[in-house]
Amino acid sequence: MSASELTGDARRLAAGAEQLGIALSAHQVATLIGLLDELDDWNQRMNLTAIRERGQQITKHLLDSLTVRPYLRGTRVLDVGTGAGFPGLPLAVVEPQRQFTLLDATAKKLRFVDHVVERFGLPNVTTVHARAEAYRPAERFDCVMARAVGPLARFVQWAGHLCAGGGRLLAMKGRYPEAELAERLPSGWKIAGVQRLTVPGLDEERHLVEICRSHDRLPSAVNTPTGSQCAPYPITI
Ligand code: SAH
Repeated sequence: MSASELTGDARRLAAGAEQLGIALSAHQVATLIGLLDELDDWNQRMNLTAIRERGQQITKHLLDSLTVRPYLRGTRVLDVGTGAGFPGLPLAVVEPQRQFTLLDATAKKLRFVDHVVERFGLPNVTTVHARAEAYRPAERFDCVMARAVGPLARFVQWAGHLCAGGGRLLAMKGRYPEAELAERLPSGWKIAGVQRLTVPGLDEERHLVEICRSHDRLPSAVNTPTGSQCAPYPITI
């Protein structure tokens, strides 16, 4: 739907999503804004997020989550340490054809996610209460993503076994994570690339680190934009 047909928060969200190349339907806009209403409501009783201002919630929770969409692959996607459902819930709303598993070690946060799933009818979302390192699913995932769950090496340690052959681990980061990229990853894993992400309406840096198995072949032509060549890993825009 066109952003000009909406008002206020909904319009801001739709316009931001449009900048990310995502044309949200009226139903998707209502679901995503409704998710924030539920978050506010639950946040009065339990600490789910420190971001309480609606404009910030739209950029830092919804749009920030949606920036990962072009990097998803396959049908089975895992969000490790999803907390109140970010980035998993917004992505599940815009990608109904993929199956999302949202995992967290804290049960009370998953109660919120389960509530949202039921309230808005999101059949492509399943929650799992487990520590990532102890989770042994019957089938592994094409894509394992995480936002704000610590250093890259630890993410690989915790979640590497959950990634199917040929799959990717996707770590959402703020500033270019130079120190983490300089550290060794657990053996058998390598950095596949670092993408600079732009969150509409947010004047802060965001990066996505893609990690794959060491033996996976990567495309030989890497697009290195001017000004980024000094980075140890090429940044693709
Ligand atoms: N991804 C969400 C929440 C980040 S906070 C967001 O960006 O908003 C980190 C979350 O990771 C917490 O909810 C915490 O319970 C969870 N967590 C920490 N260690 C974990 C582990 N080993 N396995 C699963 N979840 C874990």
